[in-house]
Amino acid sequence: MEFKSINPYNGEQVGSYTALTEEALVEKLNKSQSAFESWRKVPLAERCRLLKKAGQVLRDNEEEYAKMITLEMGKPISESRSEVNKCAWVCDYYAENAPTFLADEYISTDADKSFVRHDPIGSVFAVMPWNFPFWQVFRYAAPTLTAGNTGLLKHAANVFGCAEQIEGVFLKAGYPSYVFQNLIVHHDQTERIIEHKGVKAVTLTGSEKAGSAVAEIAGRHIKKSVLELGGNNAFIVWEDADIDQAVKTAITARMLNCGQSCIAAKRFILVEGIYEEFVTKFTEAVKLLKSGDPSNEDINIGPLARPDLADQLNKQVNDSLNKGAKLVLGGHRNDCYHEPTILGDVVPGMAAFDQETFGPLAAMIKAKDINHAFELSEKSKYGLGVTVCTKNTEEALKYADRVSDGAYFINELVKSDPRLPFGGTKKSGYGRELAKDGIMEFVNRKTVYMK
Ligand code: NAP
Repeated sequence: MEFKSINPYNGEQVGSYTALTEEALVEKLNKSQSAFESWRKVPLAERCRLLKKAGQVLRDNEEEYAKMITLEMGKPISESRSEVNKCAWVCDYYAENAPTFLADEYISTDADKSFVRHDPIGSVFAVMPWNFPFWQVFRYAAPTLTAGNTGLLKHAANVFGCAEQIEGVFLKAGYPSYVFQNLIVHHDQTERIIEHKGVKAVTLTGSEKAGSAVAEIAGRHIKKSVLELGGNNAFIVWEDADIDQAVKTAITARMLNCGQSCIAAKRFILVEGIYEEFVTKFTEAVKLLKSGDPSNEDINIGPLARPDLADQLNKQVNDSLNKGAKLVLGGHRNDCYHEPTILGDVVPGMAAFDQETFGPLAAMIKAKDINHAFELSEKSKYGLGVTVCTKNTEEALKYADRVSDGAYFINELVKSDPRLPFGGTKKSGYGRELAKDGIMEFVNRKTVYMK
């Protein structure tokens, strides 16, 4: 079986990749298992040194990796470079902090000595999406490998070029063979991989549908899973907010990566008094965004990663218009390209409110007051994060309890940062990545007791 990655901007083939045969797959899984036995014995200081080196490899080859991201999934090239740099940052972060995170934790009890030790567990299998094809992999791999586990990657089928380069980063950095392996497989081989005795856990970043399929398999085999799924983040603007600043933040929050981000702001919930002003200024700012070839330096909006994604977004636009939303800007698509689009008067029951919209579509929603704004924000099956914009930050802090999501950001877009835990609630999944939490997901926190 052949997989082809296609440049979504011009339809040209970027690469073609042959699926592993059954025998080759089993061999790779066995090698991952045996590599674990030696890798776990490599001193932590050496594992940290190699991770730091991986960060350096990323920086040294930034342009090559950024180009592949842009070619395969259409991200504007400047954003692709930032993505590669962020991966180097997460490598540095865990190289510096893993020794503290993984140190024995002493706890006073009636024992002479009792503590928690952090042992690696084995091979950890990652199923990853195309939207941040480097970042999603590194934020799992950096902590997971450094804890002493081996890694197996099944990337999204449209970014297998990136997947090969990522495996190359670890090899260039000097990691022993088979500590991190890329698997060119169809997603229907997931169970074959999860059931292997060397695979102890699975982490998936992707849609609700894929998450539930993979978690079901993991559950059947009593293996741990972490799920980072979709989102429908609210971006709440209070009456006292600095509207110009809020618009600036909102544009990045929605339009970064052409709107294809799980933590993008998707529902703009505006308190009545500032609704018109915010929508007018936001619309003016969107008109300034330049669409075109994502390989060009000055482009803000490229194509979506696949034609079906543009089609799905357009259906969501039309569903909302049919149910009474107002078209403020855009609305058209052409193959993989979807115009940046703004819908006004969006209410629950419309696709733009109820569903995750994975593209450059902003839904403007009117709230009677701040309480109503938080009520609307909670009307979502997802729970990744919420942003509020206000000058009264102390008052906004009091509302943190009203939000059931995994993150609450005041005067900033919801973003991932290696130093802060990242993850969702409800249908956005479970488990946490990044920070100390991320490295704790795939270790055996073993209680040791001595009397
Ligand atoms: P997707 O279709 O779920 O694909 C994600 C990964 O899951 C791909 O590797 C895909 O493989 C695999 N997959 C799909 N169906 C599967 C199945 N039945 N069994 C096993 N694996 C399966 O999602 P996507 O369209 O690539 O990405 C967009 C979605 O991911 C959005 O919902 C977005 O919000 C979410 N996402 C979440 C986060 C987060 O951190 N929470 C980050 C990024 C994206 P194939 O490509 O081979 O189908």
